[in-house]
Amino acid sequence: MTEFWDAAYTAEAPPPWDIGRPQPAFIRLAEAGLLTGAVLDVGCGTGEHALLAAAHGAEATGIDAAPAAIERARAKAAQRDLPARFEVADVLDLGVLDLEFDTIIDSGVFHVFSDEDRPRYVASLAAVLRPGGTCYLMCFSDREPGEWGPRRVSQDELRAAFSDGWRVDSIVADSFDVNPIEGKTRVEAWLATIRRLPR
Ligand code: SAH
Repeated sequence: MTEFWDAAYTAEAPPPWDIGRPQPAFIRLAEAGLLTGAVLDVGCGTGEHALLAAAHGAEATGIDAAPAAIERARAKAAQRDLPARFEVADVLDLGVLDLEFDTIIDSGVFHVFSDEDRPRYVASLAAVLRPGGTCYLMCFSDREPGEWGPRRVSQDELRAAFSDGWRVDSIVADSFDVNPIEGKTRVEAWLATIRRLPR
C-alpha cells in the first residue's frame, strides 16, 4: 500500500489532490482561528495543511505513509521557514506514537479506507486526539457524480463511523480543488466537524 501512495508522489505529474496549496475549506478554518494548539495533519501528503496551521501559529505535525510526500513536505517547511514537523507513519496505528493533539485535520484520507479499515482508522484518531479535541474531516461526497476518484461517502456513513465516543457537530457540503482531471477542477465534498467526547 505504501508503494501505491509513494508512486503517486514520484510520478512525473502531481496526483490530482496535490494542488500545491491548501484546500479553500481549510484556509477558512485557519482564518477562523480553528486550527490551533497541537495540530495533526493525518495523511498529510506534501504537507499543505500542516504548513497552513503552522503559519497560523499552531504546533503542527504531519504524518503520511509515503516517504516521497514527507520529503516534499519537509522541503516546503524549510523553504517557507515554517516550524512544522513531518514523519512517515501509519495513520491506522497512531497510538504507537504516544502523542496527543488538540486538533486533527483529515483532508481526503477517511475516504481512502475500506469498510474494514474505517473502525481502525477512527480508533487510531481517538488514540491521539485529546478528549474535547476536534477533528475537521473533508472527504469525497456521494453528491459527486461519475466514477472517477475515490469512493463516495454519505453523511450517514460519516455519522456511523463516528458514533461511539464522538459527537458529529456538523456536516456541510463543500468541495475539493483538484488538478484538472476529466475536465474538472473541483469535486463535491463533505466537511465534517467532529468532537471527541471525554471518556
Ligand atoms: N491530505 C493530503 C493528501 C490526501 S491523499 C492532501 O490534502 O493533499 C491521501 C493521503 O493519505 C496520501 O498522501 C497517502 O499517502 C496517505 N495515506 C493513505 N493511507 C495511509 C496510511 N495507512 N498511513 C498514512 N498515510 C496514509
